[in-house]
Amino acid sequence: MRGMSADSGRLDVATDVPERAMVVFAHPDDAEIGAGGVVAAWIAAGCEVTYVLCTNGDAGTTERSLTPAALAARRAEEQRAAADFMRVKHVVMLGYPDGFLEDTREFLGDVVRAIRQYRPHTVFVHDPYRIRNFQHRDHRKAGLTTTDAVYPFARDHLHFAEQITREGLSPHKVRELWYWGADEPNVIVDVSDSIERQIAALVRHESQMPGFNVAAGETIGARLKKGAAALAEGYGFGYGAVFRRLIARR
Ligand SMILES: [Zn+2]
Repeated sequence: MRGMSADSGRLDVATDVPERAMVVFAHPDDAEIGAGGVVAAWIAAGCEVTYVLCTNGDAGTTERSLTPAALAARRAEEQRAAADFMRVKHVVMLGYPDGFLEDTREFLGDVVRAIRQYRPHTVFVHDPYRIRNFQHRDHRKAGLTTTDAVYPFARDHLHFAEQITREGLSPHKVRELWYWGADEPNVIVDVSDSIERQIAALVRHESQMPGFNVAAGETIGARLKKGAAALAEGYGFGYGAVFRRLIARR
């Protein structure tokens, strides 16, 4: 309830900003929806952010006239525009077809390589273990593979050793893994100063806007704010974003 003291909240309020973070996501627009508010706030505070987009999103339309190739090209452009607007430093596009993510060595190796190359303190990804609602298969696969990539595959030099011996990369230990869309979040971040930026980035995904707007009968911005305001109730700020935060042991 509004007006209650901050310590009435159930979740830890996270305020620290790491030097580097990474967002791994299945489809163009998932990063902005899942972690956009925190990413915008962290970038404003000096954090270097890398996006790793797993699929090209070439199945994400109801427009029957659009070919998958044309849609993929359009969505890549939209994702670049959104990332540029957010001032995301690096964007890695793995290019798997939409709906085709599998828990393979190839995909695991791709995420491990991105982690070893861009060396994030914190990695954001879809919660693969969510069971209270439906979620896209690609979200589960991206969440699971990224979880494995963080620990132990990116950390230990004998996994994907050829990336170290032949590609010149070094092992990297990610300190924190943050799941969005979690059934049981344990941390909340104040995104009051960045939610407008999150929404402005999200609407760069113009090909997805008709669905976003029709689904709830309201704009995506209004819907996002309604949810973020409800999450923030009792914490003493206007808008919040919640995550399941896993911290690696030293
Ligand atoms: Zn998605």
